[in-house]
Amino acid sequence: MIIHLKTILKLKEEYSVKKILLCICCILLLAGCVPAAEPPEPEDGRLRIVATIFPAYDFARAAVGEEADVTLLLPPGVESHSYEPTPADILAVQQCDLFIYLGGESDSWVETILTAAEPEGAVLRMVDCVDLLEERHAEGMQLQPGHDHEHEHGEAAEEHGLGAVTGMDEHVWTSPANAAEITLAVGEQLAALDNAKAEIYRTNAKSYAEKLEELDRRFAAFFDAQPSRTIVFGDRFPLLYFADRYQLDYYAAFPGCGTQTEPSAATVAFLTEKVKTEEIPTIWYIEFSNHLVADCIAEATGTQTAMFHTCHNVTRAEMDSGVTYCSLMEKNLEALKQFFA
Ligand SMILES: [Zn+2]
Repeated sequence: MIIHLKTILKLKEEYSVKKILLCICCILLLAGCVPAAEPPEPEDGRLRIVATIFPAYDFARAAVGEEADVTLLLPPGVESHSYEPTPADILAVQQCDLFIYLGGESDSWVETILTAAEPEGAVLRMVDCVDLLEERHAEGMQLQPGHDHEHEHGEAAEEHGLGAVTGMDEHVWTSPANAAEITLAVGEQLAALDNAKAEIYRTNAKSYAEKLEELDRRFAAFFDAQPSRTIVFGDRFPLLYFADRYQLDYYAAFPGCGTQTEPSAATVAFLTEKVKTEEIPTIWYIEFSNHLVADCIAEATGTQTAMFHTCHNVTRAEMDSGVTYCSLMEKNLEALKQFFA
C-alpha cells in the first residue's frame, strides 16, 4: 500500500484527476474494499495471456491454439489511442502469466495500467521483436499542433523498465514480415513459460508465421508489378513499416497517431496537386475513419476512395465474424489489386 500511496503523490503532479481516481479505485480493488470481479482461475495450469491491441491478441491466439487463454483488453470498436483502462483491466494485467503490449508512446492508456500495477508475470513488447524505424513525416503532412515527442509519457513506466520507446514509429505490425517475427517471438516466450507445451506453441507460431511470410511475398509481388509505387492517404498514416517494406512513396493528411481530423488548406491543396500530377486513381482511408478528407480530395480530383485496414482494432462485427490479422491483410491485398492502379 505504501508504494501505491507514493505513486499517487507522484501522480498528482503529473496526471489528470481522472487518472488519479482510476488509481485510487484500483487500490481499493486490490485492498479488497470493493467487491471485484475475480478473473477466472486458470484451468489445469493453462497460461493466461493478456494483449492490449488486436494484432498482439491475434498473434498470441495463433501461437496458443487451444492450449491457453488469450484476453484482448481493447474492446472491439474502440479507437486504440483514446481508450481508458478499467480497474478490471489493471487487475487482469497484474495477474496474467504473459502481458503483451506495443511499447510505443501513443498508447498512453497502457502507461496508466503499468503505473497502477506492475505485472506479476512475463512481459513482451512488440517493439522489441523487430527492427524499429524512426518516426517520419511525409511532405505536405499536417502535424499535430504542439506535438512534441519529448513529453511526459513513459516516465512512470520507465521506472519498471517497461517504458515507451520514443522517437520511433510503433506501428510495427503493419508489415506482414514483422508480424511473422512477432508471432515467432510470442511462441518462444510461451514455450519458456510452459515447458510441457513448448513444442506445441513453437509449431503453432511457426505455422502462422509461414502464412504471414507467404502474404508478405504476395504483397511484394504485387508492388513489383506496378509501374508506380505512390500511395495517397487522405487520413492518418500508421503504415510506415508497410511502406518501407514494399518501398512505397507515400503522402498522407496526418501522421500515424494523433487525433486530428481537420487538415490545413495547404495539406489538402498539396495532396490534391499530387493526385493530379501523378494521376493517382485512389485516395485511401483507414478503418474507424469518417473519411471526410479522402472524400474531399477524391471529389476535387475525380478519383475514388478505398479503405486500407491498418488492424489497430476491429469492429464488434469483424470480431464476431472471426477476422484475423491475416484475413484483414488479405482483404487489403485484394483492395490494392482492385484500386491501386
Ligand atoms: Zn497508432
